[in-house]
Amino acid sequence: MNDQQLRGIGMTSQRTRDRLINRLREQGIKSETVLDVMRQTPRHIFIDEALSHRAYEDTALPIGYNQTISQPFIVARMTETLLEAGPLKRVLEVGTGSGYQTSILAPLVGELYSVERIRPLQEKARNRLKLLGLNNTHLKHTDGGMGWPAKAPFDGILAACAPEEVPEELKQQLAVGGRLIIPVGGSENQELKLVVRESETEYTTQVLECVKFVPLLSGTVR
Ligand code: SAH
Repeated sequence: MNDQQLRGIGMTSQRTRDRLINRLREQGIKSETVLDVMRQTPRHIFIDEALSHRAYEDTALPIGYNQTISQPFIVARMTETLLEAGPLKRVLEVGTGSGYQTSILAPLVGELYSVERIRPLQEKARNRLKLLGLNNTHLKHTDGGMGWPAKAPFDGILAACAPEEVPEELKQQLAVGGRLIIPVGGSENQELKLVVRESETEYTTQVLECVKFVPLLSGTVR
């Protein structure tokens, strides 16, 4: 990829990107820090070239293997909610996918650990993150329903795929005061939830909004 492709041109230009940012602000995204990172991030490099003219539409788009790159509004909402209570040193992301959400979160946190069950998606994401110089991201090919116990505890966990119930393993891997943001439910009715670990044994859960994510599946794909 050359410099101009990375910067974008026409439908992938900075102007097109700025329009998306204005729209996110109108729709209620308040964190200028998050909006700034999104303004600077070339979403078009996270999808196939054939679809890159749609990169700055506020929609999820296919990335192969039956998966999608997350909708910008949801990426903004989840990132802003995760960061709302203050800075986060160690964060886990479940479902790297294209690496887009990873690239928005990485500049805003200390260390970012991200797990993905589909190896080819993970490898593409790794190249993109390297291209953007995001050196505080650590990727692992594994079933993220189990979290990443060796790197726990986390101050924040963000899941980009929906389990039927909040996995106990993820709750256990939160530090006290830590925040988990996760879509929960079947394919028809999912809710975005915020779980906060108030103490060693107590958790509070808040429902934020209705969402539609791909399911969290178990096992890995090579
Ligand atoms: N935020 C990503 C969205 C990717 S879609 C982006 O912006 O591109 C969700 C991803 O979660 C998919 O890539 C899917 O393979 C992955 N996934 C589903 N179940 C998983 C699991 N148990 N462990 C790790 N990743 C999982």
